[in-house]
Amino acid sequence: MIKKNTLCLPVSIELFSFATDQAAHDSGLAMAPGKPGLLDLPTIFEEIAVSTFDYDLFVIGAGSGGVRAARMAAGFGARVAIAEHRYMGATCVNVGCVPKKLYVYAAEYGKGFRDARGFGWQSDAPRFDWTTLRDNKKAEISRLNAIYDNLLDGAGAEVINGRARIVDPHTVAIGETRYSAEKLLIATGGWPHIPDFPGSEYALSSNEIFDLDNFPERVVIVGGGYIAVEFAGIFNGLGAHTTQLYRGPLFLRGFDTDIRAHAAQEIARSGVDLRFEVNVTAISQGDSGLDLQLTDGTALQADAVLYATGRKAHLEGLGLENVNVNVNGHGAIVVDENYCTSEPSIFALGDVTGGLELTPVALAEGMAFARRNFGGLEKQVEYDFIPTAVFCQPTIGTVGFTEEEAREKFGDITLFKSSFRPMKHTLSGRDEKAFMKVIVDTATDRVVGVHMMGPDAGEIIQGIAIAMRAGATKAVFDSTIGIHPTTAEEFVTLREPWLED
Ligand SMILES: Cc1cc2nc3c(=O)[nH]c(=O)nc-3n(C[C@H](O)[C@H](O)[C@H](O)COP(=O)(O)OP(=O)(O)OC[C@H]3O[C@@H](n4cnc5c(N)ncnc54)[C@H](O)[C@@H]3O)c2cc1C
Repeated sequence: MIKKNTLCLPVSIELFSFATDQAAHDSGLAMAPGKPGLLDLPTIFEEIAVSTFDYDLFVIGAGSGGVRAARMAAGFGARVAIAEHRYMGATCVNVGCVPKKLYVYAAEYGKGFRDARGFGWQSDAPRFDWTTLRDNKKAEISRLNAIYDNLLDGAGAEVINGRARIVDPHTVAIGETRYSAEKLLIATGGWPHIPDFPGSEYALSSNEIFDLDNFPERVVIVGGGYIAVEFAGIFNGLGAHTTQLYRGPLFLRGFDTDIRAHAAQEIARSGVDLRFEVNVTAISQGDSGLDLQLTDGTALQADAVLYATGRKAHLEGLGLENVNVNVNGHGAIVVDENYCTSEPSIFALGDVTGGLELTPVALAEGMAFARRNFGGLEKQVEYDFIPTAVFCQPTIGTVGFTEEEAREKFGDITLFKSSFRPMKHTLSGRDEKAFMKVIVDTATDRVVGVHMMGPDAGEIIQGIAIAMRAGATKAVFDSTIGIHPTTAEEFVTLREPWLED
């Protein structure tokens, strides 16, 4: 392999000498200092050196992080290729955020039709048709796939369809064809993990659940993370008899404890059969659906079983054995603050590095990588106060430290909490309560955690996150005039600290 700046020409110095300085000057070539008529060969070689790689950057994986990095690098003038072996836009567009949110909207209509009766609308809830939802979703995703293709094309990045395998630190193979690049970027994301147990072949992952042929009337969802909770809300809202099983005492690990407890109460109240400290031991095909045996000795029947029990870095067939890229104990690629792996020409970002597995984080990392490596700009991603939402019903929105984390970091904290029935449900009759919690570092009065479960929590917390990143104190929250009547105004009217019993 020939590397950049190692172009060797079999030339003698006489060939590069000129009779006069003027002739050399006219040639546009650099002269050796103090040696009339002789050329400065090291400088000339430096100037004429060309990259002998096919590309400056080869990105593996056209997901949130990979596409953003490829587009921006190409925008900075780099020669970029991007390989994708499944679908443009990857997880978020095809089997993640986008179809999930569309299905959440669909699920919310179910309750909305019932709510409407309290506001005078008299017709019964219309019948739900899975095929219409699924096929409309498919059409929208196809539209987005094409947009991603055009975005890359427009930026000048070459899209290569196929599974990429790394052959050496500068070479990638797709089928029989090899491509070389000065830098490789691994943005292969994550992949659902279903544990091995008797009958695990009957379990579906989030990759398959969106496109079922028929609507499952009875669904069992196994897992306690945000994806499991969201799908429980979707199927419950669409009218399936929905059971969610979690092996621990309380789901949504990593979220604030009050939010977790409130979510358990509201989700159970909304109709999900929520069971903790229980797991599946076996699944088999029965006469009228799938039979599930549980660790507590009970049994369940279902038309579909969704395992949302975690995702692992997608490294299968990537050829990491051919290079010196370190992987941590969880199977994620280890990178430094500039997304460089232990192999200096290979970089990685997004879910494959096992950090915060969120689309906006992968996008930000892709931008920072492209700016630094191809734009000469050093701005790094700031990982503090990243807001996030769980699109269950009602929605959870959260930003900053949980109560437990804040106690550990700041010691003395002041809590503000509120739980109430949103105004809409006074007439809808829906038995649903919102919950809000603000955590303040007592010493500085800075708001360091805001957690909410209630209508539009994702929309509300996005705005609160801006204030928190700007360092807003509780006094700033208190001096802000509310918007009335809204749920969000509660955040600027929380006056009395919460006193523990
Ligand atoms: C059900 C679900 C819901 C989600 N909801 C949200 C949400 O509401 N909000 C949010 O912020 N995040 C959400 N996420 C997470 C979000 O989708 C991911 O964080 C994000 O997609 C990560 O982007 P990425 O670029 O790291 O990887 P990905 O988007 O996963 O892209 C990786 C791509 O690499 C490709 N690939 C892998 N190996 C190869 C190879 N060898 N050669 C070629 N191509 C390869 C894959 O086919 C894939 O297309 C959700 C995820 C799931 C599963």
